[in-house]
Amino acid sequence: MKLSVPIAEVKRMAVHDGPGVRTTVFVKGCPLHCLWCHNPECISARPEIMFRAARCTGCRRCEAVCPNRAHRIAEEGHHIFRRELCTACGACAGVCFSGALTLCGKPMTPETLLGELLEDVDFYRVSGGGVTISGGEPLLYPAFCLALFRLLGREKIHRALDTSAAVPWEAFERVLPECDLLLIDFKHPDPERHRALTGMDNRQIRENLRRLQAFDVPIEIRIPFVPGYNDSPRELEAAAEFLDSLPRVTRVRVLAYHSFARSKYAAVGRRDTMPQVESPSRERVEAVEQIFRANCA
Ligand code: SF4
Ligand code: SF4
Repeated sequence: MKLSVPIAEVKRMAVHDGPGVRTTVFVKGCPLHCLWCHNPECISARPEIMFRAARCTGCRRCEAVCPNRAHRIAEEGHHIFRRELCTACGACAGVCFSGALTLCGKPMTPETLLGELLEDVDFYRVSGGGVTISGGEPLLYPAFCLALFRLLGREKIHRALDTSAAVPWEAFERVLPECDLLLIDFKHPDPERHRALTGMDNRQIRENLRRLQAFDVPIEIRIPFVPGYNDSPRELEAAAEFLDSLPRVTRVRVLAYHSFARSKYAAVGRRDTMPQVESPSRERVEAVEQIFRANCA
């Protein structure tokens, strides 16, 4: 049976998604809706057109090929894209040479991806890197993750899984035997505040983290640090206290909020939910990191 999953992006030369130089595979589809989501194009599991109006040259190729008349270039050159008519066939993206239109979410199988991932195998070997599956939420597709990790394992390539852990335990159980490193987000220690910020409480995440302690897979925790949302001393200390009870956690990283994703919300036609806050200073990030260093052995 062929397993295909909607892929938003295959990002080469990634250096923040696990050790060494890596290729990160971003799947589409996520059970959470974090206010500060940096990958809004990965929220929906459905393929969708990304439209970046500033790149449009007004060449009208998209207008000519769209079977649903979703594109119209007005007299004054203004590009009107009626997303509600789009069926994501990809024809317009195929003729848009300026990069204004791209199809996000092309279904790919582990076998197809493997060829692309092997192109950088020398970088993985020299740097101690490998491949990370991220998203979106990869564990919405455990059979896909397992199959891709098996293929990579045969090539002796390091395999990391970047997950919110907001998934049924059975998904972890399937993938763990082929996984070398887990990267797990911990967004907020309080269940109800977690629900307000992400759309789901954190009970399942905490329970999965506890159960993972029985397995020999190292865990790197990633704290999205969003000033004013999860950074009071009480919130940080509660998070540090919980994480300190998890012996498989080998590292806690603080990922500072940034607003670079703002243009992506417009490109996929989503309401921008990014908090209107400044990125924290390097000193502030270091102070938060120090809280976790001091409290997590
Ligand atoms: S094909 Fe691309 S550049 Fe040409 S009109 Fe359409 S969006 Fe603009
Ligand atoms: S993806 Fe297909 S249906 Fe959607 S706008 Fe482009 S050509 Fe039209």
